[in-house]
Amino acid sequence: MNSDDLKRHAAELENATAAEIVAWAAKTFAPRLTFATSLGIEDCAIVDLIARQSLPIDIFTLDTGLLFPETYALWRQIQDRYGLTIRAVPPEFTVDEQAVREGPELWARDPDRCCDLRKIQPLRSTLANYDAWITAIRRDQTPDRANAPVAGWDGRFGLIKINPLVRWTSADVQAYVREHRVPYNPLHDRNYPSIGCMPCTSPVLAGEDPRSGRWRGKEKTECGLHIMPGARRAGG
Ligand code: SF4
Repeated sequence: MNSDDLKRHAAELENATAAEIVAWAAKTFAPRLTFATSLGIEDCAIVDLIARQSLPIDIFTLDTGLLFPETYALWRQIQDRYGLTIRAVPPEFTVDEQAVREGPELWARDPDRCCDLRKIQPLRSTLANYDAWITAIRRDQTPDRANAPVAGWDGRFGLIKINPLVRWTSADVQAYVREHRVPYNPLHDRNYPSIGCMPCTSPVLAGEDPRSGRWRGKEKTECGLHIMPGARRAGG
């Protein structure tokens, strides 16, 4: 698909429902299409949209080896509920191997390098096998995501990126999950609006930015999984 076609499709899909966008993605790109779920509440809604329509979309998650027990339990629960597989994409080295090579608790000393080793590199290797990927980003999550298209070229990873929930608000996500009884991480109900690896995620206080619990006390605010054209880092 050339860039003019992609822009045309993105414009046509701007007012489509999330279910229609996911269905279009499957029809256009499967089996060269994958969904990278972080097992966040938005990602759970997308799995429901995929399963509800029995769409042939590969699904994987970056298993850093440092996820919360609640996240691993949710992973199993989703697979059981929908009868599908969420593939584990691990980093090259286990946490212990990384400690030997880089020193212990790399995330505390150099979280950018830790994210690069445990998330970005495995993601890049996986996405090299596909023409398009689906993500759960929303425009209202960060300033960098405010102009995210429904579908656009992801120059960082060299494939098309499809964002079915870009127009959704947090309230839309909550409403969808409630209406369809979608399983989600119980940590979301314990003041963890954004959940990543255990060492780098803390609960947020009332009035704090929902992402302020990620890499608290550090300048880092993003994994670097999502970068918008002309923008700084966004994502993770
Ligand atoms: Fe490492 Fe933290 Fe990034 Fe996870 S979120 S890969 S522990 S720096």
